[in-house]
Amino acid sequence: MKRIGVLSLQGDVSEHVAMLNTLGCEVVKVRTLEQLDSVDALILPGGESTTIAHLLVTSGLSDALAVKLKEEMPVLGTCAGLILLSSEILDGRSDQWSYGALSVSVRRNGYGRQIASFESELDVQGVGRVPGIFIRAPRIERVSEEVEVLATLDHGDGAGEHPVFVRQGHVWGLSFHPELSSDTRVHELFLNSL
Ligand code: GLN
Repeated sequence: MKRIGVLSLQGDVSEHVAMLNTLGCEVVKVRTLEQLDSVDALILPGGESTTIAHLLVTSGLSDALAVKLKEEMPVLGTCAGLILLSSEILDGRSDQWSYGALSVSVRRNGYGRQIASFESELDVQGVGRVPGIFIRAPRIERVSEEVEVLATLDHGDGAGEHPVFVRQGHVWGLSFHPELSSDTRVHELFLNSL
């Protein structure tokens, strides 16, 4: 059985762990290098991207995760996790860094701040309609050619349609939170790819 890690430094870790448990996975909460080394795939949860980035450095995990990404370990990032994987952060903190593993530009809080958190049904390629829960979500503003877009959303704010679910080989990014609904199919899609 594959071992799935959930980066457990900050953010909505327990919801991902619960969903993976529901799906019968062996789940490891990743806080150390040994734990990172023990998993076959990793989920980067939502939370606060600057805080998670800071804790990645202080925990000594940041370089090791960069190596894992280079070695093509499957990694799925939701919300703050997507920001961490992206190649460009717009409206980020001036010293904010990211892995550049996913060739997308994301705008932090691109749908507005707390007040603009919302739910919208999404049509995910290969899955069908799933609930999309957005919380101070990053907006994906540009994607490179090599990035596959699995779902888009027109938020109705005049900005048009933007990707909300993307994949570049082993790296997956979602601006919404599938772990906050009871629909397990997005996690299953990732697990079935392993
Ligand atoms: N706005 C947060 C950030 O920039 C992300 C929000 C989330 O993960 N729900 O890190």
